[in-house]
Amino acid sequence: MFYIGCHLSASKGFTAMGKKALEIGANTFQFFTRNPRGGKAKDVSEKDIADFLALAKENKFGVLLAHAPYTLNAAAADESVRQFALDTMADDLKRMEYVPHNYYNFHPGSHVGQGTEEGIRKIAGILNAVLKKEQTTTVLLETMAGKGSEIGRSFEELQSIIEQVELKEKLGVCLDTCHVYDAGYDIVNRLDGVLEDFDRIIGLDRLKAIHLNDTKNPFASHKDRHEKLGHGFLGLDALVGIINHPKLRDLPFYLETPNELDGYAMEIALMKKKRG
Ligand code: FE
Ligand code: FE
Ligand code: ZN
Repeated sequence: MFYIGCHLSASKGFTAMGKKALEIGANTFQFFTRNPRGGKAKDVSEKDIADFLALAKENKFGVLLAHAPYTLNAAAADESVRQFALDTMADDLKRMEYVPHNYYNFHPGSHVGQGTEEGIRKIAGILNAVLKKEQTTTVLLETMAGKGSEIGRSFEELQSIIEQVELKEKLGVCLDTCHVYDAGYDIVNRLDGVLEDFDRIIGLDRLKAIHLNDTKNPFASHKDRHEKLGHGFLGLDALVGIINHPKLRDLPFYLETPNELDGYAMEIALMKKKRG
């Protein structure tokens, strides 16, 4: 089964997102758990959830990917900023149980001058506070481009976080194709080698999802600017190689390309055509 979708606006609820996904040829999607800049989450509507779960079942949807607000910084030096990250993630994970067995992705954080090691220690501390044995959601650490003092620019950094977390079985990784190339992993010329590195350092069993994006910047730029599929430095051939790679093809793919819905529909149709 080829699971592909894109980032959708969550403002009208799960059922509206599910219908939008179907309209554009998707069978999964990503959404922000609340305003991407933070703020209060919407109240959960049980009717919306029930309707969505029926629609998802009927249309054989793949796993959903919730995305934490990107302003959270679990590695912050400022205690109140870290507390906000903790409270937000804890609340998000509680709400995620209304749609059980899905994924919750977050940007590990930026150490803002404290050093990578201290940042990693703080991120692991937050995860140890928010992860619960009984949760059905898997929390994904996103591979980052390494902009500023971002943590998660290397597989080693992600593995160091995982190593310090007690409930490791609740953790996975979401690989963003724009970010890893930007971070210095050459998935255009040596995809097999990069996946071998991932397997040796983290373990491919932790890889749960792919953010499928092209990039506006050349290799190892550390800039994090997404581009439409086939219009950037990754190019169509590399992206097609990724969706068809034997070690990746069964994972869900989520587009976060600069598009409106019609653009997403075109890219999804293109990827389906190129799926071997
Ligand atoms: Fe992200
Ligand atoms: Fe991403
Ligand atoms: Zn990005």
